[in-house]
Amino acid sequence: IENLTKTYKSAGNTLTVLNNINFSVEEGSTFSIVGPSGSGKTTLLGLCAGLDRSTSGLVELNQIRLDNLSEDERAQIRNQYVGFIFQNFQLLPTLTALENVMVPLELRGEKNTRTRSMDLLDKVGLANRSHHYPAQLSGGEQQRVSLARAFSNDPKILFADEPTGNLDAETSEKMVKLLFDLNRENGTTLILVTHDMELASKTQRIIRIKGGNLISDERTVAI
Ligand code: ATP
Repeated sequence: IENLTKTYKSAGNTLTVLNNINFSVEEGSTFSIVGPSGSGKTTLLGLCAGLDRSTSGLVELNQIRLDNLSEDERAQIRNQYVGFIFQNFQLLPTLTALENVMVPLELRGEKNTRTRSMDLLDKVGLANRSHHYPAQLSGGEQQRVSLARAFSNDPKILFADEPTGNLDAETSEKMVKLLFDLNRENGTTLILVTHDMELASKTQRIIRIKGGNLISDERTVAI
């Protein structure tokens, strides 16, 4: 990320949500973005993942420059390299839990998508809910489906917006283990947005955003 700025215009006013942000994340590392509510964390995560476009500045992912690509081109890059766990899950309401997890695999034209997706749902403890629709699942269960979907295309880089935000302590611990196992076993780069400092301190580096500015960038003792 170089000199990244994001502004929104509304009613003749310009709102600067991110102001000249610079950092880079090492491949295979774990990284947290923390900061107060409304400071720009979700916006930053979305720009890094190519979900949205910056107003100015450079965004590069896996040596591919994202900020001057079209929406379709960015979607292709996301299908290829990126997993994303949304704060509000963003499951497709007309698809079952299983079908939601199958989507990224189908998009990549892969085989055995049903069996592999069932395995993933099993991993997050939801094999017995595979045929439920999102509206029939609790918030925490939807979050776990969202995790399984984010893992399913074996991403090079996984972005997670408050991955434990809606989970009880026990489920949260399991999810954190899944995320860090993915990093250790597959070398998946992990970028988290979280309010949970205990979770952030498990990552190798923490940046703090306040009022759209990067105010600190620290390496932790996490391994
Ligand atoms: P939280 O911790 O509460 O999730 P956050 O740090 O993730 O907050 P963002 O969601 O990135 O914050 O929002 C940063 C600011 O940008 C907020 O003030 C928000 O109102 C504003 N914002 C976000 N999206 C838009 C939009 N599409 N149009 C206008 N303003 C927006």
